[in-house]
Amino acid sequence: MSLSFGRSYLAIPGPSVMPDAVLRAMHRASPNIYEGELHDVTASIVPDLKAVARTAGHVAIYIGNGHAAWEAALANVCAPDDLVLVCATGRFGHGWGEMARALGLAVEVMDFGQTDPIDADKLEQRLRDDTDGRIKAVLVCHVDTSTGVKSDVPKLRTALDSAGHDALLMVDCIASLGCDDFAMDEWGVDVMVAACQKGLMTPAGVSFVWFNDRADARQPARVSGYWNWRPRASPAQFYQYFAGTAPTHHLYGLRVALDMIKDEGLDQVHARHAVLARALWAACDVWATQGPLCLNVADPAHRSHAVTSVRIAEGQGDALRRWCEHTAGLTLGIGLGRQPESAYFRVGHMGHINAQMMMGVVGTLQAGLIATGTPHGAGALDAAAAVMAAG
Ligand SMILES: *Cc1c(COP(=O)(O)O)cnc(C)c1O
Repeated sequence: MSLSFGRSYLAIPGPSVMPDAVLRAMHRASPNIYEGELHDVTASIVPDLKAVARTAGHVAIYIGNGHAAWEAALANVCAPDDLVLVCATGRFGHGWGEMARALGLAVEVMDFGQTDPIDADKLEQRLRDDTDGRIKAVLVCHVDTSTGVKSDVPKLRTALDSAGHDALLMVDCIASLGCDDFAMDEWGVDVMVAACQKGLMTPAGVSFVWFNDRADARQPARVSGYWNWRPRASPAQFYQYFAGTAPTHHLYGLRVALDMIKDEGLDQVHARHAVLARALWAACDVWATQGPLCLNVADPAHRSHAVTSVRIAEGQGDALRRWCEHTAGLTLGIGLGRQPESAYFRVGHMGHINAQMMMGVVGTLQAGLIATGTPHGAGALDAAAAVMAAG
């Protein structure tokens, strides 16, 4: 029997749940793009985007998804045949590398597997070996969404500094921004990319590249007029923010989403994500005491607070996802890039979510494990509830 009628819940790692206030802000007639409110709203978004990234640097806004931000970032600091070093902890790291290769860059990939963070010592050694300074940039995902692995970005900065290497440190925070703690300037990140449909709670379609002066100084002689981050970050005229028509309604939605983050407080936003993630992990730890279920990342310090990857048995991940979606109205993430994909599922817990929603996820997973005949330890809801109660 289907019990899914009612409000459905998309608990995948992006797009995330959209707040009603964001949707309401977007529900309006097209604004005047030549003058007036839209210009003010756009200008007001810029400092708040910098605040979320914790940077005093620059930000360029693009009409596009995360892949657009990947390309934009590379186009502004690399020329064909430049070498970039990708440190991969899952599918998205490889994806950024493939984007670089398609742009004509030379790409070297250090693959750190799918369950562990980037090893800063290995990165440092590779940079020390690059005696003629061929590597122009180091590309990393703060959180790789396919695995839920979170890497220690300050440690990576230290690796670059200890090796005395001047490659740019470029970080993909598409999954983590507004969920896991991140501090661009303090952590010594030169370029950071994100998109609006995950922690920033806005429908997919706008992405961002933050950059510092050091990165800007690396701009190659030729950069496409569309990707060039300079006019976007320092527009002399309004249309230059977007190299054309503004993403009008997204800007109204994003304005409200950034207000919500400001009202809650960024530290509190991070703390909320941490508790909700820990509640899910506590449930998983109990389920794992019997049967096949297992958290993908063993050490909680290396897990993201935005997304959790879980392995069960082959076929069981798919069966569980199907049951949760069709019978209970809860959509979970697929085992993207995993072998076998059908053994995995992911829970996105980014953005506009609270304790009752996470308890709903945990309770629905409990029902799904029973319904699909997956052996599991008893007491997971109590364990999750205890984490919530402790706060
Ligand atoms: C979602 C995501 C992307 C891709 O973003 P799109 O908007 O789907 O292009 C890239 N990197 C990470 C870490 C992501 O989470």
